[in-house]
Amino acid sequence: MIRDPETLETLLDSVRRFVRERLVPAEDEVARADQIPPALVQAMRELGLFGLSIPEAYGGLELTMEEEVRVMFELCQTAPAFRSVIGTTVGIGSQGILIDGTPEQKQAWLPRLASGELIASFALTEPEAGSDAASLRTAAIREGEHYVVNGTKRFITNAPQAGVFTLMARTDAKVKGAGGVSAFIVDAKSPGIALGKIDEKMGQKGAHTCDVIFENCRVPAANLIGLKEGQGFKTAMQVLDKGRIHIAAVCVGVAKRMLADALRYAIERRQFDQPIAEFQLIQAMLADSRTEIYAAEAMVVDAARRRDAGQKVSTEASCCKLFASEMCGRVADRAVQILGGAGYVSEYGIERFYRDVRLFRLYEGTTQIQQLIIARNMIREAAG
Ligand SMILES: Cc1cc2nc3c(=O)[nH]c(=O)nc-3n(C[C@H](O)[C@H](O)[C@H](O)COP(=O)(O)OP(=O)(O)OC[C@H]3O[C@@H](n4cnc5c(N)ncnc54)[C@H](O)[C@@H]3O)c2cc1C
Repeated sequence: MIRDPETLETLLDSVRRFVRERLVPAEDEVARADQIPPALVQAMRELGLFGLSIPEAYGGLELTMEEEVRVMFELCQTAPAFRSVIGTTVGIGSQGILIDGTPEQKQAWLPRLASGELIASFALTEPEAGSDAASLRTAAIREGEHYVVNGTKRFITNAPQAGVFTLMARTDAKVKGAGGVSAFIVDAKSPGIALGKIDEKMGQKGAHTCDVIFENCRVPAANLIGLKEGQGFKTAMQVLDKGRIHIAAVCVGVAKRMLADALRYAIERRQFDQPIAEFQLIQAMLADSRTEIYAAEAMVVDAARRRDAGQKVSTEASCCKLFASEMCGRVADRAVQILGGAGYVSEYGIERFYRDVRLFRLYEGTTQIQQLIIARNMIREAAG
């Protein structure tokens, strides 16, 4: 649903200009330095990007899901590390509080998240709990007006920059699986939190992940999201439905950029006395990529509209994440092929994208986990 076409078009124009004039020229330097310049993060704050999905009442832009994916189609036509700066705040960092938080929790945290004053991280994965996230072991034991948290979280995006963690921890050791898990808002400055060393990753340099270690960290009971134990996993899964549509939109944006670069190269590069774009075998790769991007874009917009209409979109969100992330990998591979040797050396940037996009098939649920969700939903529906 588009709430206000004129305002949205103005925002999309600003984002397009920001990508073209500020982000694309900074791509190489960000990859080399493994750091996003603070001035660019500040510019993202000023554009309102941290508050995309937060209601206007708390200082956000209150975009609908359809509006949000259209922003992602534009914002992500550059290195995906830039999107990662806002990703964890726009996703579970704000949405868990928004969906299940109390009015006091919303008032206390959402305005600072919307402005980008605080960066939020989502701490679910653990060394022994990845795809099987419901088996997580980090414990939060109630002691008076606090919970005492012990455990280690792994691969946590933006943890080194985070002002706040949305933490999933087990409040009831007797309840195995999802029912014993609760969600907390944890101030990153709390005593008892230590960060591991920053992970050396395959790609997306400039976006950082690391372990977050909780050792007798005391979290006020008032920071239990919704003040209800045992709801945390449900909160996380609801937010991940939204997150998967968002990531699928990110994949569409990055794929568009890679295809634009490959097309430009194919038109300019000459072999056998003609542009390689004239060769039908190159044209097949261009056409297949364009077709798959169109299919993914149409899926994402449809799923976003369904979510805006209040429908349950668990299956559609997983279909989008599965198809768009795999599509993005295929487009990256074809782009390298079209550039030939130039696709393999860093000067042309395509090899960087090739490495960057590999992550999309892994996080927020691997391709295999999306397949399981889709098939399980189908079987449940068939059973009535
Ligand atoms: C760069 C990066 C950023 C991340 N950011 C965050 C973050 O901010 N917050 C957070 O909480 N987590 C984050 N993660 C963690 C990410 O979500 C997990 O890595 C992912 O869910 C997979 O878990 P795993 O790595 O433990 O793999 P595993 O679960 O060990 O999976 C290994 C392989 O087994 C397959 N597999 C597992 N179970 C099944 C099954 N039942 N059927 C078939 N195949 C199966 C998987 O598909 C995969 O191919 C991040 C990871 C990375 C790499």
